[in-house]
Amino acid sequence: MTGDQDRGPDLDPAWLRRVRADLRAWYDRGHRELPWRDDRDPYRILVSEMMLVQTTVAAVTPYFHRFLARFPTVGDLAEAPENDVLKAWEGLGYYRRARQLHAAAKAIVHDHGGTVPSSLDALQALPGVGRYIAGAVRSFAFDLPAPIVEANTQRVLARLLAWEGAIGSPATTERLWRAAERLVPEEGPGAFNQAIMELGATVCTPKLPSCLVCPVAGECLARERGIQDRLPLKAAPKPPLPGAEACALIRRPDDGRVLIVQRGPGRLWADFWEFPTVHLTGADPAGRAFDPPVDLATGVEHLTGIRISLLDPLPPITYSVTKHRITLTPYRAVPLSSDPPVPGPGLVQAIWEAPEFLSRHTFSSAGRKLIPKAAELLTPG
Ligand code: SF4
Repeated sequence: MTGDQDRGPDLDPAWLRRVRADLRAWYDRGHRELPWRDDRDPYRILVSEMMLVQTTVAAVTPYFHRFLARFPTVGDLAEAPENDVLKAWEGLGYYRRARQLHAAAKAIVHDHGGTVPSSLDALQALPGVGRYIAGAVRSFAFDLPAPIVEANTQRVLARLLAWEGAIGSPATTERLWRAAERLVPEEGPGAFNQAIMELGATVCTPKLPSCLVCPVAGECLARERGIQDRLPLKAAPKPPLPGAEACALIRRPDDGRVLIVQRGPGRLWADFWEFPTVHLTGADPAGRAFDPPVDLATGVEHLTGIRISLLDPLPPITYSVTKHRITLTPYRAVPLSSDPPVPGPGLVQAIWEAPEFLSRHTFSSAGRKLIPKAAELLTPG
């Protein structure tokens, strides 16, 4: 890359040396203990990085321990049924990442004899592994001088360079990766990458960066210019696309069981369980719409063969998925027939389940919120 975009202090070898040395010295004096830090096992690093996408360290830590206790090796994960993997991931969100990690484990076993590869091309060929995760595995596990750019490092780099392009734009992405490539040292690249991430997480934070205690304050152009508080620039967020859904919490009077269905493959929340749900208006990220549109009672009959009588609605819940914000209104309902349910379009199973066993099935986070409500419906009185 040439031109204005490539001007910056990272063209100066002395600046690069100072930033590397100052950051490493600061990091070596002390840093947070994270379960995956200092771990050189590429499988564990792969798991932690896949979990950390869009999620905080605090949220990931218990899942990381549980997941590795359940699937201690890449072979264990590759052999596991997908439902077990989703169950171990349940609650962490971004289930696509769980499926990608599972597929990556299978590819590592199938294509690489069960050994996580170290080459950039081989890593990036794994499902769900992009430039950042490949760099993390290569530098943390194999100590290769591979750059990384993620949320923390991009903030630090944008400030160090006083880069005023919007985060997420192609020019900014390219510019920050270029800076990361120049900065990552041949000696100790893994620790350097950890250090810059740590700086972003603990000192060069999104709001009110702690420049007074920053080890690279003397090298930081944003601080020199007094613009650190307004960098990095963010592109204006697009408003989420609203949508409305309704679901039925259907109690069978004779034994108190609740009707649940399992979604089929190839769509959002494939293999997940839910209470029969239909799309009503607006965005339909999960593909629940009928053509022509139907009301909830008709939709439940299409989905399960069970005719129902709707009772009162419960307070709606909202959830976000991809670029959508969905309002889901649950309704209490009773069946009008005792026929066994038959899974309809897009479903693979429809069953009557005892309320105490509902949580054994994998639900989305919205569905999990409704499990206690479904159980409450069974309380006498
Ligand atoms: Fe961030 Fe301030 Fe350090 Fe610059 S001096 S890297 S803005 S904390």
